[in-house]
Parts: sequence; structure tokens; C-alpha cells
Amino acid sequence: MEKTIAVIAGDGIGPEITSEAVRVLEEVADRFGHVFTFDERLVGGAAYDAHGDCLPDSTLEACKRADAVLLGAVGGPKWDSLHPEKRPERRALLTLRRELGLFANLRPAKVWPCLRDASPLKPEILDGGLDLLVVRELTGGVYFGRHEFSADGRSAVDTMPYSVPEIERIARVAFAAAEKRRGKVVCVDKANVLATSRLWRETVKRLHAEEAPGLELEFMYVDNAAMQLVRAPGRFDVILTENMFGDILSDEASQITGSIGLLPSASLRADGFGMFEPIHGSAPDIAGRGIANPLAAILSASLLLRHGFGLAAEAEAVDRAVSLALEAGLRTADTGGGASTREAGDAVISKLKRL
Ligand code: NAD
Repeated sequence: MEKTIAVIAGDGIGPEITSEAVRVLEEVADRFGHVFTFDERLVGGAAYDAHGDCLPDSTLEACKRADAVLLGAVGGPKWDSLHPEKRPERRALLTLRRELGLFANLRPAKVWPCLRDASPLKPEILDGGLDLLVVRELTGGVYFGRHEFSADGRSAVDTMPYSVPEIERIARVAFAAAEKRRGKVVCVDKANVLATSRLWRETVKRLHAEEAPGLELEFMYVDNAAMQLVRAPGRFDVILTENMFGDILSDEASQITGSIGLLPSASLRADGFGMFEPIHGSAPDIAGRGIANPLAAILSASLLLRHGFGLAAEAEAVDRAVSLALEAGLRTADTGGGASTREAGDAVISKLKRL
């Protein structure tokens, strides 16, 4: 397979961790006989310093041309004083998501058995398992509705629009993901209050009957879901939800695994094109020291292989190599060890070579 990957490493630890993910992808290409071309571009504060724009046209065009995008992280104190519209997080991230049509955000969250101590949850709760996937709608709902103040500034309104096609396309993503996992979808909403949630329920129920009747489907109010995530996370396989609920629940789900340096994400379009990135930020406090954990970036590369290119065996090999490296004692500073970013990359690659 021949593919081009736009690599936008960004700021802070972005370049350090992304280069390890690229090394892993190079090893995968060698091992499985693929040709990956890496088109490296500036984004975020680094792009602002060079071109006065956190998302130069050349970067956006390169991302549109590529078969997939691998992102590090953007932002940092140096650019915090920029106008909000020009800041890395808004100008670069939100524009990329909108321009690339990335409506589906996938965030897997699981506890690695050898890192159970890192979770803030009690061991008896973790005994029930924690291996879930949040499928969040990313380009609709309240974040993309109207946001208005009244003329006197004493009242305000935000609207939360959703349409049947928007719900159908994200539900299909969740169903497809559940089919490859444990076959269980929990659709999270607030159907006792919100009209959009009732539309979600009707649409998801109908689509389930028409297209995925073999999957187990449950509906849950968002307040209950927030509670169940810390009470009995093992009951979840795939969580399907709208934009704002997904924003909140996916952060909760990732935090209960205990280690931000281990969590990847994928933002996808219907045709599988996607942008793949760790859930963490640019970690300016440790940038440049070579101690950041690159595993979230490496696992984002695994999501790229699986969802972006349909290379399940290759993705499985990367996940397995990460798991074996952790079991063999790999620990970067955030997980209580002393391995450098490069040593962590080396450890995964050496496991990959021996699989
Ligand atoms: P952060 O995720 O960058 O860091 C939070 C804490 O986690 C820090 O102590 C950091 O050292 C640690 N950490 C994060 N990733 C790590 C890794 N791979 N290995 C070891 N430790 C790691 O969040 P923050 O400090 O709130 O934000 C820093 C900057 O990143 C801000 O400018 C923020 O806007 C930006 N940000 C960007 C993204 C993105 O690019 N997608 C996401 C979140 C935050």
C-alpha cells in the first residue's frame, strides 16, 4: 500500500512525540511492505512564528491532499496572548476539523493491566474492566449553533441544532466500531428534557433496527452515564453521543485510565479519512527535555493504520508492541519511570521487530 501522511507535529512536546510515532510507522511500512511518505508541515505556534498564521494555507492544502493526518499538539504560553481567533487551538485545530469535515471523534480509553495503579479508581471497580470507546459527534450540536446575547447583554441564548442525517452518520460509525468490539452500544442523551435528544433516540433506534439489529443497544441519560463511568466503567463498550456530552464524557473516560500520556484519538470523515492525535496538549512544562511519553502519539499512529488505512493487522501489531513494552517495564516519567521519549520509542520498535 502506498500512502501519504501529513505530519503536523506542532508545539511543545509535539515534535518529540510525533517523531517517535513516525519511526513506528516506518517500521510498520518496512515490516508489512508498505510505502508511507511523510509530508511534514508547520502548524500552531511554530507556524505562527514562521508565517504569522497558525494554519498556513500550505499546511491545510497538504492535509487535504494527504491520505491521513498525524498531529502532535499545538499551543503554549508564548501564543496565549494572541487574539482568540488567531490562537493555535482555535485557528489550527477547529479550522482543521471543520475544513477536513471530521465529524466523528473516536476516543478509546482502557486501563493497561500493568498500569492499573495509575488509575484513580479503586481496584475492585477496575476488576469489572475498563475498555471503552467514546464516539462523539464533532461538527454539530450546541458548539455549532447560534450563540447570542440580547441587546442589553442581560440574557443569552445558545441553540443546539441536529438533523437526522447528522445523527445517522455518527450512529453508523458507532455501530461499525461496536461490531469490531464487544457489540454493545450505549447512546447517551438527555431525552427527558431535550428535543434534539428525542430526535437522537428515534433516529438511533430506527437505524439500529434497520442496519445493526445484532448489536446490543441501550439508551442512558447523560447524568447517569457520568455516574456509571466511575461506578461501573466495565459495563461500557461503545458510547455514542452528541458533541457537548461527548466532550465532557470523553475527558472523564480518559482521566479514569490514569495516564494522559497514553491516550490517542481519531477524528474521522465518512470515507475514513482522518486526523489522528494524542488527547493531551503540548505540555510546555516538560517540552524540550526529551522525557515526554510518546505512547499516545504511537497509539494514534495505530488508529491511523486501523481507521485511516484499514490496516487492522498492522494496527494490532503496534498495540501489541506497546503492550509488551509496558509489560517489560517501560515507564516514562509520567508513569513513574525514567525512560526518555526516544527510549520509549526504541522499546516499542524493538518489540515490533520481534513480533
Ligand atoms: P497538557 O495536556 O499539555 O499537559 C497537562 C499535564 O500533563 C502537564 O503536566 C504535562 O506535562 C502532562 N503531559 C501531557 N502530555 C504528556 C506526555 N505525553 N507525557 C508526559 N506528560 C504529559 O495540558 P495543558 O498544560 O493544559 O495545555 C498545554 C497547552 O496545550 C495549552 O496551550 C493548551 O491549549 C494546549 N492543548 C492542545 C491540545 C491539542 O493540541 N489537541 C489539547 C489540549 C491542550
